Amino acid sequence: MTHVLSLEGKIALVTGASQGIGETIARRLASAGATVVAAARNQEKAGAVAAAIADAGGTAEAASLDVSDPSSVTALFKGIAERHGRLDILVNNAGITDDGLLLRMSKESWDRVLSTDLTGVFLVTQEAVKLMMKKRVAGRIVTVGSVVGLMGNAGQANYAAAKAGVVGFSMSLAREIGSRGITVNVVAPGYIETAMTAALSEDQTRALAGRIALGRLGTAEDVAGAVLYLASDLASYVTGTVLNVSGGLLIP
Ligand code: NAP
Repeated sequence: MTHVLSLEGKIALVTGASQGIGETIARRLASAGATVVAAARNQEKAGAVAAAIADAGGTAEAASLDVSDPSSVTALFKGIAERHGRLDILVNNAGITDDGLLLRMSKESWDRVLSTDLTGVFLVTQEAVKLMMKKRVAGRIVTVGSVVGLMGNAGQANYAAAKAGVVGFSMSLAREIGSRGITVNVVAPGYIETAMTAALSEDQTRALAGRIALGRLGTAEDVAGAVLYLASDLASYVTGTVLNVSGGLLIP
């Protein structure tokens, strides 16, 4: 019996794979056997991630992508179609924050976050679905949302709106393309240890952990494991869902 978590023979695109959670997702999918396209704006960093995956025995390539730019998105997919002829897994991970209280939030800040975190998901997913349907691939689409999109967070109205938006988007798309065998899901992380949280003081980290049922911040590996599950054969009958990976920060 083949291992149900094996992604052998699958082509996986991970957006925002040049660092942080996206880098870990790219490594995780590659270690499960997928050929990974690690896409981001910074080619030096995306190239280093692809090289590290190859050093570890996996298969990956770096690709240039600005998710908010339609011409960049179509160019990426032209390249994927030419080089690989198909796409099995899309992980929409690229995302930014630009925090501020509503009364001081500029329209530029609102537009910047929405164009990357929501419109970017629309642009990339649309191209991915076209390619999956053309090749009759029972594909997997996983978008990295946030619990902030489910519970709100003061100072993040733009980010929360975008992350709530990807939930409605994914649920609608799951209904549209379920008959094609393509699943569409969201992973919603809570507080994850990143360069940003590493800068917090011990007291601040303890206060954050105190709000989390499991008593600790999450790791990028925690998120990558949930993405791998949804991308694997184990999740064949799971679509239109939001997988809350917050250690119990959010228990609805
Ligand atoms: P990060 O370290 O800042 O990494 C963000 C990634 O997105 C980078 O690889 C960046 O690469 C890429 N990116 C940004 N804008 C892009 C664009 N326009 N086009 C293509 N790529 C772009 O962030 P992270 O903490 O790993 O977060 C990853 C995802 O998890 C995001 O969607 C975030 O909202 C979500 N999340 C994070 C946390 C957390 O605690 N860290 C919690 C919940 C959800 P380039 O700059 O090279 O393009």
